[in-house]
Amino acid sequence: MALSARRRRAVQAARSAGRSAGVDALLITHLPDVRWLSGFTGSNAALLLTVPKSRPAKAVLFTDGRYTAQAKAETPGTRVVIAQKNAALAACEWLVEAKIRRCGFDDDNTTVASLKQMRTAIPKKRRAMLQPVGALVSELRWVKDADEIAKMRRAAALGCQLFEEILGLMEPGMTENAVAADLEYRARLAGAEAMSFPTIVASGERSALPHGKASAAKLPRRGFVTLDFGVVLDGYCSDMTRTVQMGRASDEERAVYDAVLAAQEAGVAAVRSGVTGGEVDEAGRAVLRTAKLDKWFTHSTGHGVGLEIHEGPRLGAKQKQKLEPGMVVTIEPGVYMPGRFGVRIEDMVLVTASGGEILTPCTKAWIEL
Ligand code: ZN
Ligand code: ZN
Repeated sequence: MALSARRRRAVQAARSAGRSAGVDALLITHLPDVRWLSGFTGSNAALLLTVPKSRPAKAVLFTDGRYTAQAKAETPGTRVVIAQKNAALAACEWLVEAKIRRCGFDDDNTTVASLKQMRTAIPKKRRAMLQPVGALVSELRWVKDADEIAKMRRAAALGCQLFEEILGLMEPGMTENAVAADLEYRARLAGAEAMSFPTIVASGERSALPHGKASAAKLPRRGFVTLDFGVVLDGYCSDMTRTVQMGRASDEERAVYDAVLAAQEAGVAAVRSGVTGGEVDEAGRAVLRTAKLDKWFTHSTGHGVGLEIHEGPRLGAKQKQKLEPGMVVTIEPGVYMPGRFGVRIEDMVLVTASGGEILTPCTKAWIEL
């Protein structure tokens, strides 16, 4: 069986990026990149792509004995080498034998320790062959193709379905952990491989913590509960946030919710091919500024999402990166008043030529439980 058309395109894109970077091979060790290019999902892997000008190109996947069967099944069309050691180290030995002159590696995602280890496989006078090329492959993943978008749509839709199911179960006195457990159990039953990140259930005062992981705290009779979670389906992550009110809200709570919702909708409305991350960030931030709440909005507006829960582009103040059709980004402004309460609302949005399409279309209307 040969490489799928999608993987063939991805490998071609990586090779041409490598060529532009002036290297004759690429060593890919960041696991989401390895998965994107080869299909392999194991936890120890290095993928070598040669970037020849004329000779036939080579692709070799290095892993270890735990993955012999899995690597062969997942990576049709790719040569698999089962190494006795660390995959990146084995790949470096191969580079030496193949007389590669310049090999690009991802210095954004390589630890100092693993670089040191990789260099031990290369004779001293040839160590300059390893050239940092940054997150060159990860950046190629920012724009999704139709097949990837279909997977992300399914992951996002599952997230919405779980949110709607969990609403019916939440009541005062239930712990945040119990809410998270129920949500995650349902996610697995529905086919999720994992959650995209530790589920956030932040209730009452804890809703003012932007990253309030579910705890033993109990849902209050009155107050906000922020749910921020995602599922991994077919390798692709979803990410969404909704904030709901337990009991009756004060006028101030309601006003803050309405302002965050208006900011979030302004952010979504600003999404379009060609605008910068900074412009999208400003669209929502300006709404909170008018409401005199911007000083409580302490993080950036959003991030790309895909095989990784946080990838590029970043949507933050002054970000110059332009959005392109096929990118999937989150729009997630929030207001956090320490010791009091917080509100965040987040959707996943697909960038199209003419605008943005929300992939998480469950309600953002005011909910009192
Ligand atoms: Zn989120
Ligand atoms: Zn997010």
